[in-house]
Order: sequence, then C-alpha cells, then structure tokens
Amino acid sequence: MNALVTELVPVQGALASVAFKRSARARKISLRIDASQGGIVITLPMRASRRAGLSLLHTHEAWVAEKLAALPTALPFVPGAVVPVSGAPHVITPTTQGRGGAWIDEGRIFVTGEPQFLPRRVTDCLKRLARQKLTALTAEKARLAGLAPKSVRVKDTRTRWGSCAPDGTLAFCWRLILAPDFVQDYVVGHEVAHLRHMNHGKSFWALTEKLTVHRSAASAWLGANGQALLRIG
Ligand SMILES: [Zn+2]
Repeated sequence: MNALVTELVPVQGALASVAFKRSARARKISLRIDASQGGIVITLPMRASRRAGLSLLHTHEAWVAEKLAALPTALPFVPGAVVPVSGAPHVITPTTQGRGGAWIDEGRIFVTGEPQFLPRRVTDCLKRLARQKLTALTAEKARLAGLAPKSVRVKDTRTRWGSCAPDGTLAFCWRLILAPDFVQDYVVGHEVAHLRHMNHGKSFWALTEKLTVHRSAASAWLGANGQALLRIG
C-alpha cells in the first residue's frame, strides 16, 4: 500500500487531513480514522478515483466529524510532558549529565543532547524497553506452554497490539510499554497462545486463560484507552 497524497478537506465546516492510499488488495473504497495522526485514511482500490473516495467521505461526514472530535488529545514528547511507562507517570526531563541518549529512572525519562532530537531519543528508549520487557514476558509464557516463538519483534503498528505469523514470529506494538503491566501480560499471553492455535476457537481461549488471568480487564482497558496510546509521542 502506498500513500498517494495527504490533503485538507472540509468536514462539517472544519478542515480535516485526509490521506489517500492505493491498495492492490482492496476490493472497495474504505474509510478509517487514524488516531495516531488525528486524520482520515481513505483506501482506494487500483481503479477507484479520488473523487469516489471523497464522495464516500461526504456520505459519512457526520460519523467522521464525530470520530475526529472524540479523538484523545495528542501528547507529544516534549520537556516536562508526563508519559505513562507501564501505566506509571514519568516526566520527560532533559539533562546534560550522565551517558548519552535517554534512560528511565525513578519516574523520569532523562534525555541528553540537542532539543530537536529529544522526541526520537525518548521513542528509541521506550522501544528498547518494550523489546526487553515483551521479549522476556514472551519467553516466560512460551516456556509455561511448552512452546517456542521463532522470534519477537517490536514494531510501530497502528491497528494491532500484537500478532502471530504462521512461521511463529510474534510482533508487538512498542506502545504497549505505555500500558499497565496487566495489559502487556494479556496481549503477550494471547499471542503466545496463537503459537499453538491460529484461530480464536475454544481451545485457543482455554490456553490464553492458562497463560494470563487478565483477559477481560485488559480488553476493557484497551477498548477505553487504546486510542489514547496511539496519540502519545
Ligand atoms: Zn488473536
């Protein structure tokens, strides 16, 4: 899928950012809200016109305006911003001391270097932490289930918190490190269970519930807060 162009389009009187994407796999024109960008994504099959996409947007204008208005406020990585790490508040704190880069210590994310690199350094630091923690948690749960993932990846996915490929590669969204521990525990347990069952059948859920006790609490938490996580950073 390729981004064609992003343009500003009036939606119920306010300008909204619309990204048009071409997709060889898409059968029909589709419309979604991209919480991380605060805009709209219109996916066009190869033969569909941009005008047909806009016409779909206008048909659903009221729905789109409502969704955009309901988006959580963006929380950029700037000095003084309070960022949740495993659910606990951490203050972004620029410093000239210590080693280079960014690191986490006692409720703070310390960052060195030029201010323009601060967002990148904080993101890299959180991704590193996410990789360490989610990899360790995956190993622990896989051991419990007598399973072995091929590898664990941490990515910047926007539509899924975790995934399990047929070859046994597990992937997680790095933003999970922002969520409380019980949410991380559930998402990892869910994906590890997919190593044995590539479906959401009864046996899959039975195994998931052996690997994590947080299914309902975590699903509810992600339903209520998932969009907000996408607006951080
Ligand atoms: Zn699943």
